[in-house]
Amino acid sequence: MDNTSLRHYRDKLLKRREQILAAIRHLEKESQEVTGKRHLDWVDQAADENEIRLLDRLNEGYLTELGRIEMAQRRVLSGSYGLCLGCHRPIEPARLEVSPETEFCLECQDLRERFERAV
Ligand SMILES: [Zn+2]
Repeated sequence: MDNTSLRHYRDKLLKRREQILAAIRHLEKESQEVTGKRHLDWVDQAADENEIRLLDRLNEGYLTELGRIEMAQRRVLSGSYGLCLGCHRPIEPARLEVSPETEFCLECQDLRERFERAV
């Protein structure tokens, strides 16, 4: 990958990381607010618990994505960024454009998904 493209994706990764960190901070605040309300009514308590579970799930999703972004950032540093982890061929630029933390090329991703469905 040429340096201009590498810089472009590196910046995208940085920006995405910032967005996710902001979203996680926001979720934490919201979660604290729900916990802080302490409803006495059991219907409200159930709603609170549901909301906290939803926030936890969102948080988990963000943490997973954050992990993948950090791994991609490591690949930028090690010079292997943009290469498929499966077949080591370059990942389609259109895929990297949509999600710069992408780990696999279209073909390998497709194979993996089919394998996961079959299991
Ligand atoms: Zn591949």
